[in-house]
Amino acid sequence: MSKIEDRVIIVGAGPCGLVAAACLGKAGIRTTLIEASRELPKDLRASTFHPPTLDILDRFGVTDRLIERGLIAPQWQFRDRREGVVATFELSLLAGETAHPYRLQCEQWKLSEELRTILEADDCVEIVYEAEAVDVAQDDDGVSLQVRRADGSGETMRARYLIATDGARSVIRKVLDIPFEGQTIPEIFLSMSTSFPFENHIENLATIAYMTDPSEWAVLLRTPTLWRVLLPTDPNLSEDEIKDPALMQRRLQAVCANPNDYDIAHATAYKVNERVAQRYISGRIFLAGDAAHVNNPLGGMGMNGGIQDAVNLTEKLAEVWKGASLDIMGRYERQRRKAALEAVQAQTLRNRRIMNEVDPAARKAYHDELRATVADPAAHKAYLMRSSMIESLRELETIE
Ligand SMILES: Cc1cc2nc3c(=O)[nH]c(=O)nc-3n(C[C@H](O)[C@H](O)[C@H](O)COP(=O)(O)OP(=O)(O)OC[C@H]3O[C@@H](n4cnc5c(N)ncnc54)[C@H](O)[C@@H]3O)c2cc1C
Repeated sequence: MSKIEDRVIIVGAGPCGLVAAACLGKAGIRTTLIEASRELPKDLRASTFHPPTLDILDRFGVTDRLIERGLIAPQWQFRDRREGVVATFELSLLAGETAHPYRLQCEQWKLSEELRTILEADDCVEIVYEAEAVDVAQDDDGVSLQVRRADGSGETMRARYLIATDGARSVIRKVLDIPFEGQTIPEIFLSMSTSFPFENHIENLATIAYMTDPSEWAVLLRTPTLWRVLLPTDPNLSEDEIKDPALMQRRLQAVCANPNDYDIAHATAYKVNERVAQRYISGRIFLAGDAAHVNNPLGGMGMNGGIQDAVNLTEKLAEVWKGASLDIMGRYERQRRKAALEAVQAQTLRNRRIMNEVDPAARKAYHDELRATVADPAAHKAYLMRSSMIESLRELETIE
């Protein structure tokens, strides 16, 4: 077998793999980032950057670029679809806690593009496209990765360590036989993008609005070019039925009456999982991002949590590279698994409970609680510290 190369391999060039590569490149560690696709994926997925993620991305100089290409959201709100605003959260209360006291609405592929530009200028990092990881093994010295190329040929890549950021269906996690514990939630999520200016038709609408309703919740998210509408959908319908243009039209008209037909630029229907890997580490292999945890999108925390994993992991791996014991990586797992379970899952599950509640008394109790929270400056700020992921990042420092 070929000898171990003095490098780290990262599998998967989504936002987490790209951030991990940028961190290792900055630390002067030779890194090969392999990506199964021909180019960086440009599908419509995450669109929200939370304040601490913007703070983190500042170290690569990409935050200002994202702000230029994105939309600052100084507020977000809970609403009732019929009655209007329940509670508006003011992110300016976080001034002093973060350099970016707002959420940034910006498509995740723009982050990928900005990071790719940085990596292409970094001699330490190479990106290999159309290289699909199919199997992995390791021994005391390093890791051997089996890769399939687009022409069907195979090769073995060797490295001292491997970071798996190959997404929710991670091949590496499966080969390592690491259980991905949690659940698939029953409803399908339908996301539709439209140029309809909801802000001119729904009173006091914030850039991000979670709208509760006893029969069907809705989320309205504005991106720099379009509004996205997210609706829960009957899992018994086929994808064709869910995306039937007439049905989508009726559902959008029910969210907000539009005298003309809605133009629907994109529609995606997807199953949502809430799962956390039982282990993030196996010897010299580390899981991060969606490969390690997935959650429902209510709260916009998946990509943000993954970027925070990538930074935590690579800071420790850089120490190991310089001679620290591999054992220090255990703290990565303890810190970031706790964040996934106790911050991300807890907050997104709570958001889903609020959105799904149909009992009138329980709905009223949730709404009263949210109103009381925003009316009390200390409680308002505490809620924002949690939902913006600042608190969980700080708490991690206390975990040994
Ligand atoms: C519709 C939708 C909306 C979302 N909204 C938000 C939001 O507002 N905020 C938020 O924080 N999160 C959101 N998320 C979640 C967010 O998109 C993910 O958490 C994020 O993409 C995870 O990044 P990642 O790098 O871990 O994985 P991915 O983005 O999935 O990237 C994995 C990469 O690995 C590559 N790959 C996979 N297998 C292999 C292999 N075997 N070999 C080589 N390469 C491989 C893939 O091609 C891909 O490029 C949303 C997700 C969806 C689906």
